[in-house]
Amino acid sequence: MKAEDLQKNYREVKNNIEETCKNIGRDPKEVTLIAVSKTKPLSDIEALINIEVNEFGENKPQELKEKFDLVSTPVKFHQIGHLQTNKVKYIINKVVLIHSVDSLKLAQVIEKEAAKKEIQANILIEVNYAGEDSKFGVKPEEAEGLIREIASSFRHIKVKGLMTIAPFVDDPEENRPIFKGMKQLLLDIKSQNIDNVDMSILSMGMTNDYLVAIEEGSTMVRVGTAIFGARG
Ligand SMILES: *Cc1c(COP(=O)(O)O)cnc(C)c1O
Repeated sequence: MKAEDLQKNYREVKNNIEETCKNIGRDPKEVTLIAVSKTKPLSDIEALINIEVNEFGENKPQELKEKFDLVSTPVKFHQIGHLQTNKVKYIINKVVLIHSVDSLKLAQVIEKEAAKKEIQANILIEVNYAGEDSKFGVKPEEAEGLIREIASSFRHIKVKGLMTIAPFVDDPEENRPIFKGMKQLLLDIKSQNIDNVDMSILSMGMTNDYLVAIEEGSTMVRVGTAIFGARG
């Protein structure tokens, strides 16, 4: 896509976010927009870097690593998609946040790789709130237990919150109960004051439903199509 079109799309999404925040009395600074650049060329990322965009989301570790190594200016990359244990090593020191932790086994590997690099890995727990067979993530009622195990066992991991991928629906209003439920789950776990856990991030909302997600308390929206156009 042409640089000016990408920049216009990004500004439009950003404006929508600001407008929605204004309407409901939230500070727009509470909401981070992650530009989901998966499958898109490096030149698209560069077009946004030129207008000072700083947060990008990728779902394939190999692709994230390549783009990380090639960008002209250091930017923040987020691992948003499912992560296989054997791919952790490619991205562990290249991402600011892993959104998709859904098993103790994956956390174990993240711990091992983070320890090797002497860094702290920031993670979110992915919740399959709607219980869709096609989606990764733990059941809502399993989230707290997994967080407790991770927080008590792994010194190089910091749990920062929750993430969900809501179902693909025609009307984003259909996902409102899911976003509400996710916010409540975050608050419930936060109220437990678990040591070494900081439930401050709620990653939810994509092109079709990011404004509803923000109305329900999202602090990070992951938007691809509305910025970069349809993926091939
Ligand atoms: C692709 C992807 C997105 C962005 O989806 P759009 O509908 O294009 O905005 C967000 N989150 C995850 C986990 C994704 O894989």
